[in-house]
Amino acid sequence: MKCALVTGGSRGIGKAICLRLVEEGYYILVNYRSNVDEAEKTLAEIRSREGQGELLPFDVADKEQVRLRLGGWIEANPSRYIEVLVNNAGIKADALMVWMDDEQWSSVIRTSLDAFFHVTRLVLNSMLLRRYGRIVNVVSLSGQKGVAGQTNYSAAKGGVIGATKALAQEVGRHGITVNAVAPGFITTDMTAELNEKEMRLMIPVRRFGLPEEVAHAVAFLASPQAAYITAEILSVNGGLYS
Ligand code: NDP
Repeated sequence: MKCALVTGGSRGIGKAICLRLVEEGYYILVNYRSNVDEAEKTLAEIRSREGQGELLPFDVADKEQVRLRLGGWIEANPSRYIEVLVNNAGIKADALMVWMDDEQWSSVIRTSLDAFFHVTRLVLNSMLLRRYGRIVNVVSLSGQKGVAGQTNYSAAKGGVIGATKALAQEVGRHGITVNAVAPGFITTDMTAELNEKEMRLMIPVRRFGLPEEVAHAVAFLASPQAAYITAEILSVNGGLYS
């Protein structure tokens, strides 16, 4: 059975990606860190759409948990393999750099950049053996442009953009593509405190994006038909930055 792992798949953009990949017939591994209720709701929605999947909680920022939980799942399920990996889990901890503490810096780097390394390395092995895989990293406009108050987040996402391009060159000949989707402002819990009415004026399409619009871009890059697209960063930002 073909599987897709979506990190941070329980809420927001990750949830929309899970529901979109169900339409492509994937068995969905819904990763999350702590909010069991939301994760269970997402799994129930997957099932209500005649899809299949399971919850796979672990903290992507904790390499031991990744090794034990994700590595354990891979070992326990030799007949299944993760054909699509979406590195989506992310947090922000904004502050001007002069006020930023060590934990604000390292928690954001661990959750996006270190997690990309620890999760992808584990999943890559079986993709290489089967000579097929789709890896899509959810980055951000912040990692492309740099945003004041987000040196940690811009560094983390910018790092993943560099890693996307590098890994794509390593594994392209093995049938594996590695791409990223870079959202602008998307309506989720992460942007709940932002004033869309004011901020929309600086966005050419005059609104925040929907999680489903990011999910559509991810599903495109994850499709077998996107085999000749790799090392690409696809912006989903309403024209805010290119
Ligand atoms: P949300 O805050 O709405 O959801 C975050 C999801 O990630 C939840 O499922 C959460 O699980 C999970 N998560 C957070 N930390 C961890 C962790 N350490 N281990 C495992 N799971 C974790 O975020 P969004 O949907 O808005 O963002 C998704 C991605 O898109 C992020 O990478 C974000 O940086 C990026 N992005 C978002 C934008 C936006 O405007 N919303 C813009 C650009 C990029 P739990 O509920 O258990 O904590």
